[in-house]
Amino acid sequence: MKLYNTLSKRKEEFVPLEEGKVRMYVCGPTVYNFIHIGNARPMIVFDTVRRYLEYKGFDVNYVSNFTDVDDKIIKKAIEEGVTADEISKRYIAECKKDMEGMNVRPATTHPLATEEIGGMIEMIRTLIEKGCAYEKNGTVYFRTRKFKEYGKLSHKNLDDLRSGERSLLVTGEDEKEDPLDFVLWKPKKEGEPSWQSPWSDGRPGWHIECSEMSKKYLGEQIDIHAGGEDLVFPHHENEIAQSEAANGKEFAKYWMHNAFLNIDNRKMSKSLGNFRTVREISEQYDLQVLRFFMLSAHYRSPLNFSADLMEASKSGLTRIVNAADNLKFLMGNAKTEGMTAEEAEAYEKTQEYVRAFESAMEDDFNTADAAAAVFERVKYSNTTADAGSSKEFLQKLLDRLVSLTDVLGLIVDRKEEMLDGEIEKLIEERQAARKAKDFARADAIRDELLEKGIILKDTREGVQWKRA
Ligand code: AMP
Ligand code: ZN
Repeated sequence: MKLYNTLSKRKEEFVPLEEGKVRMYVCGPTVYNFIHIGNARPMIVFDTVRRYLEYKGFDVNYVSNFTDVDDKIIKKAIEEGVTADEISKRYIAECKKDMEGMNVRPATTHPLATEEIGGMIEMIRTLIEKGCAYEKNGTVYFRTRKFKEYGKLSHKNLDDLRSGERSLLVTGEDEKEDPLDFVLWKPKKEGEPSWQSPWSDGRPGWHIECSEMSKKYLGEQIDIHAGGEDLVFPHHENEIAQSEAANGKEFAKYWMHNAFLNIDNRKMSKSLGNFRTVREISEQYDLQVLRFFMLSAHYRSPLNFSADLMEASKSGLTRIVNAADNLKFLMGNAKTEGMTAEEAEAYEKTQEYVRAFESAMEDDFNTADAAAAVFERVKYSNTTADAGSSKEFLQKLLDRLVSLTDVLGLIVDRKEEMLDGEIEKLIEERQAARKAKDFARADAIRDELLEKGIILKDTREGVQWKRA
């Protein structure tokens, strides 16, 4: 299996540190709002990498953090007049709902930065003892030049960085020994969450979080470290400097980065007003469609989000789901049990599609080609299975299809579940019916929703609903 390593800028054969096991860390979101569809890309991509590694028989320890202390969280808390903790807890819960919708499996561990401060302080202490960090007025900085390999991931050299140093100087940080030095610990400002430390009451810098959480849950050396390409510099470069300086070992063997997701060929940003959350998409589509869309391109290629591409993904996914449904239907009506010799031969042929699927995935996780192999496989079962097929043959065809779609994280059992948008539309219609005193219609809508597992509650603030 080959994967592209940002460190060497080459595709490399994957050899785990320990046979049969993979230790993998994926930088998670900062939780101050609903996640946007850009954040969803690394979640889906690396969940698929994990699923393929498991399909190959590896035991994967998958760690992904939530950054729950950050300027943006504090700003949002001040705006709403609540605590930072309330903001981060709320959006972690919302993020987990979105992950479930996208069929992104929970990590083995989802550490929270705020629960790991003690370990971060220890790591900073070690760095100071080793002469790799220093304190000035309550702030601790990493002494970047002390780490000779700085720049090895982003392929920048220290002198180039030095010539751009003016832009690196941030107000209030002019006490640094060198403009390249970065913050490990900073004193609190009035009203900010803070923790005690030997240097000041304050909070950790962002980069040290991941170095510490990765070490605590996966050990000093890991196989794969991943995230979006914007994290290569400075976040991952700084993580390497901290971890390798503190532990004296190579931190991660393979560094994987997904390219960005754009919208209608433009960068997604708040100022352009083209920012889309996963939650908004879920009102229009089953999030499986979003997942399939994300996997329709190679993870290292930029991907453009558009209504047309989502529609194409929707119909592609429907084709696969229909094939599975058809097999289930035929199975329910099959007249014979055991496979015939002819069927056994036909089944053998499906091995070809499995091989195509695997070789696409083994080539740096080419999910686009892997999905093409699934479509070929669908076409084959649509033409070979019919009312005369045996139950065993149909079951085997279905199992084989599911084993591949499972790797992509696609659920082919058709979901009858209603989308949030559909539910809300029906609730509005029910309100209108009540207003018009058409109680029969209002009750019929309530019953229809109940049948689909949606429970309505009339409250003073309006109608609330939940899934049973
Ligand atoms: P953040 O919350 O900004 O730290 O981002 C969480 C993850 O989402 C990181 O791995 C980012 O690199 C990734 N990410 C953010 N925006 C995008 C985007 N537009 N396309 C792809 N990945 C993104
Ligand atoms: Zn990180």
